[in-house]
Amino acid sequence: MNLRIGQGIDFHRLENGLKLWLGGVLLPSEKGCVAHSDGDVLLHAICDAMLGAAALGDIGHHFPDNSSEFKNIDSIILLKRSFNLIRENGFSIVNVDSTVCLEKPKIASFIPEMRSVIAAILETSADNISIKATTAEKMGFIGKEEGVVALASVLLKK
Ligand SMILES: [Zn+2]
Repeated sequence: MNLRIGQGIDFHRLENGLKLWLGGVLLPSEKGCVAHSDGDVLLHAICDAMLGAAALGDIGHHFPDNSSEFKNIDSIILLKRSFNLIRENGFSIVNVDSTVCLEKPKIASFIPEMRSVIAAILETSADNISIKATTAEKMGFIGKEEGVVALASVLLKK
């Protein structure tokens, strides 16, 4: 079996009054991500990890943030299109592991829903999708609630 690993990372600024989409789920939050798309930092990191595993470039290459086509786009669509690209190249998902680093809100209770949303798009079982969360212990831009980071690793098989 041909196995390929990829990693992805994404950052977004947080501002008051915006919606916070994370893992395809709308979270209750005073702040949301500043972005050209809906700013779903977790889905963007997973897209980049999938594309990276298949050596297909990155999310900015396929979905440029200066294109009106992708303005305010639902990141579920970006994930689906990224998945289609790797599938066209003969790959499927073995597993995804990811970490979201943000100060608040607490996301633990939303993780099961995120896992099932992502698993459905990636045509795999939720058992193959891991989402973890941590804070930055009040340090730096994450700790000051100025931004959010997500990291993802994806293993593909051909
Ligand atoms: Zn992003």
